[in-house]
Amino acid sequence: MPLPRQAGPAASGEGRDGGSWHAGHGRCGPGARHQTVSFMDYNQGMNPMSRRIAHLDMDAFYASVELLRHPELKGAALVIGGRRPGADLKVSHPEALRLREYQGRGVVTTCTYEARALGVHSGMGLMKAARYAPEALLLPPSFDAYRQYSRLFKAAAGTVTQAIEDRGIDEIYLEFTESDGEIRALGQRLKDAVKGATGLSCSLGIGPNKLLAKIASDLDKPDGLTVLDLADVPDRLWPLPVGKINGVGPKVQARLAALKVVTIGDLAHAPAELLETTFGPRVGQWLADCAQGRDDRPLNTDTEPKSLSRETTFEQDLDVHSDRPALSRILTALCDRLAADLLQKGHEGRTIGIKLRYADFRTVTRDHTLAQPTADAALIKSAARDCLKRVSFNQKLRLLGVRVGALCPTDSKGLAPSPQRELPF
Ligand SMILES: [Mg+2]
Repeated sequence: MPLPRQAGPAASGEGRDGGSWHAGHGRCGPGARHQTVSFMDYNQGMNPMSRRIAHLDMDAFYASVELLRHPELKGAALVIGGRRPGADLKVSHPEALRLREYQGRGVVTTCTYEARALGVHSGMGLMKAARYAPEALLLPPSFDAYRQYSRLFKAAAGTVTQAIEDRGIDEIYLEFTESDGEIRALGQRLKDAVKGATGLSCSLGIGPNKLLAKIASDLDKPDGLTVLDLADVPDRLWPLPVGKINGVGPKVQARLAALKVVTIGDLAHAPAELLETTFGPRVGQWLADCAQGRDDRPLNTDTEPKSLSRETTFEQDLDVHSDRPALSRILTALCDRLAADLLQKGHEGRTIGIKLRYADFRTVTRDHTLAQPTADAALIKSAARDCLKRVSFNQKLRLLGVRVGALCPTDSKGLAPSPQRELPF
């Protein structure tokens, strides 16, 4: 029976590139603001220096970590991906494998800027990528190394400010509102600290809120340091496509395109009633606020866990039918460990989720919310099984994870035995 390669506690929000749990820290999306003022009114009515928020995004994170591990590949078009790293990609020296030699269904996890210049992007099938960049080099992902560098850059950032919101394996928000010093100098200190600790570059965006900071970090990649304030909104924000707003995904973009709203500037000039009738008052107002660069979400620096999870990558990919007993044992072990984690942390949770990664690295999650929070292994397992029934299995699995979210501290009531069921007589 294949043994689990790793099974450790994972903080929520980690590993977005590798498949997110969509849990935890302050989701982007419509907030609760209901204020209608023009751009100038807003700009004059508020001190743009009242908050100083930075968004730090590591540059081509996985690929850059690989370049640290294989410095001889610097400057090469390098693609990270592959179906079964370490199994069908037996690479003793990475140069042994050119993308054109790859046969399989794998997808591009990420790639260097040199490969991007040839038209390759993450999520693209490797066979297709090979047509754009046949000479690009292919390396399997090494998630343990990425997690280690993630911890290193976050620790380095913590020496500059402690107000940090963890947004996943390669990005964080930081707040400098209370920090002394000129903002560019602080930003440079932060970039230097990250570089010094990891050897990696990052792109930093700074603004009066998370919305502008996030957009700014993407404006000058790699190794950028971009400051945006509200006065820059018409010149810098409005020419950008609406998809640059964090939270405006393909579906919203398509609905906006149908209204002839393509750029953020179009959005700024769209009638409020049109947005509100199309998207509802909350989302309509949120879109209008975004177009004006308005966002008052606080940083979520809460280190209390929002969720706890355990996951296992299998030694060999497992088939849901022929390897059923092994999968069942693994699921039981994950739920037992998760229950032990919950007990140790003094938490219980209502939302039970599963994560599956298929052989081709596609990741799916499902969750199920219980009526009562629980820390009980058997209840977690039964809810996880319910989730698994909602997934299709048309290929082998390489990873299974279980998560308990919507955590709350276990109180005395939670520890008491469940109330006796009323008997029907
Ligand atoms: Mg990044």
